[in-house]
Amino acid sequence: MTDACIFCKIIAGDIPATKIYEDNDVIVFNDIKPMAKTHFLIVPKEHIESLKSCEDAHQALLGKMLLLAPKLAAEQGLKGFKTLINTGREGGQEVFHIHVHVFGGGEPNS
Ligand code: AMP
Ligand code: ZN
Repeated sequence: MTDACIFCKIIAGDIPATKIYEDNDVIVFNDIKPMAKTHFLIVPKEHIESLKSCEDAHQALLGKMLLLAPKLAAEQGLKGFKTLINTGREGGQEVFHIHVHVFGGGEPNS
């Protein structure tokens, strides 16, 4: 838990989010500014800044996050989807708590 981190605050229940999945390791919620009809974020409960901060010990957690993508996408009715992990400011990362974006279903307002 990092006080300044918005995703840690969501994990702690201090700010609301539309949760679609949660277990001991991971929380998944809809992106607040969706870039597709379905756009959710797979977020580990451990505060890890980015893919650059990951270590061998995170291998199982990263695998779990990726394997959740098709399961949750199917639950959301997606037949296919895109995944994205922005890494570092130069990589487009804005929230420095690692997360996997999952997008599908076409443009948000089409
Ligand atoms: P990134 O650029 O990969 O760090 O993406 C951060 C994502 O987090 C963006 O798509 C934001 O719209 C999303 N986001 C930021 N704050 C919230 C929030 N409070 N609830 C849900 N999604 C958020
Ligand atoms: Zn955090």
